[in-house]
Amino acid sequence: MSLTPFDFTVTHTEGRARRGRMRTAHGEVETPAFMPVGTQGAVKGVTHRDLESLGAEILLSNTYHLYLRPGDDLIARRGGLHRFIGWAKPILTDSGGYQVFSLAARRTIDEQGAHFRSHLDGSAHSLTPEKAADIQAQLGSDIAMVLDECLAHPADLDAAGQSMARTLRWARRGRDRFLALRDGLAPGVAISNPGQAQFGIVQGSVFPSLREESARQTVEIGFDAYAIGGLSVGEPAEVMYEMVSRTTPGLPADRPRYLMGTGTPGDLVESVARGVDLFDCVLPTRNARNGQLFTSEGRINIRNARYAEDDRPPDPVCKCYTCATCSRAYLRHLHMANEINSSTLNTLHNLNFYLDTLRRIRDAIAFGRFESFRLAFHQSLSRQPHDS
Ligand SMILES: [Zn+2]
Repeated sequence: MSLTPFDFTVTHTEGRARRGRMRTAHGEVETPAFMPVGTQGAVKGVTHRDLESLGAEILLSNTYHLYLRPGDDLIARRGGLHRFIGWAKPILTDSGGYQVFSLAARRTIDEQGAHFRSHLDGSAHSLTPEKAADIQAQLGSDIAMVLDECLAHPADLDAAGQSMARTLRWARRGRDRFLALRDGLAPGVAISNPGQAQFGIVQGSVFPSLREESARQTVEIGFDAYAIGGLSVGEPAEVMYEMVSRTTPGLPADRPRYLMGTGTPGDLVESVARGVDLFDCVLPTRNARNGQLFTSEGRINIRNARYAEDDRPPDPVCKCYTCATCSRAYLRHLHMANEINSSTLNTLHNLNFYLDTLRRIRDAIAFGRFESFRLAFHQSLSRQPHDS
């Protein structure tokens, strides 16, 4: 039996906000941390070298996409995801469930798992809690996510309760399979990373009682750490904050907490204030490609005609390559001309804004001034001009 190197140390706290250090098989991550999303094993528009220079310490990659293409068997034969994509730092993989629920065609769900057809070629597949663990073992990510049921919003209490109960049954099966893989009891599955850790996921929609029950029972199963899923799916921000507030007290203080798929820079600050340590979101990268830039003064849409002859950088206080070398006028021209550099330069800036925000959050917690940072952050983002 191999011992996972996964560990977490809280180094500073202020209120419910925590600064800490997460240790994985491929190195350490300072928390609170933001994980750029590398769906196909690459963050769209930028290279791994760019990500390293921006200070990214961990990437998220998508199991559903890599399973369908090029396939987890092929990646295992290449020595696992780290070697295949040439990224030596930590990687978290999702379970694939979210994409099956949102992308796959002709999807049906039963107690066994999700059955669907590939959005690429129509081929038939099943994703079960066991299969999700197997695929991620072959990919060899540092953190694997358990398969959960992704419930559409809004859902009534009864439907949310049934879905939460199924997620708990799937969590038990996913954990058992993960432990069997770790103990070498699953022949036929290549273990690309013997130090892989597995996170459980709290569900329960927008119902505080379900969230608390889900947290309690998921912790009972016993994972390396815990995530909060099923939020940022269309509910108001205040409801999301309330669900986070009601969930984090039920999660172990000595384990990192990961809020999945969230959110705006303001959401990150508010969730840190409620005890969250890890984030991922496609907003900075996807919005960059659409011409929307996150700045210290709010969001700007570089397509806007008002920037056609604006010689200022996107964000006057940003230290990124894009802000050091490009005017809003130039970035607008590149975007309007569909120039590929537009995506790259905008993505560099947006990721820098997110990663720098987390860096400032960590510093603020360490110096006991997170509350004043939080206030100043919201005041700054409320200033004009922004035009999203
Ligand atoms: Zn910048």
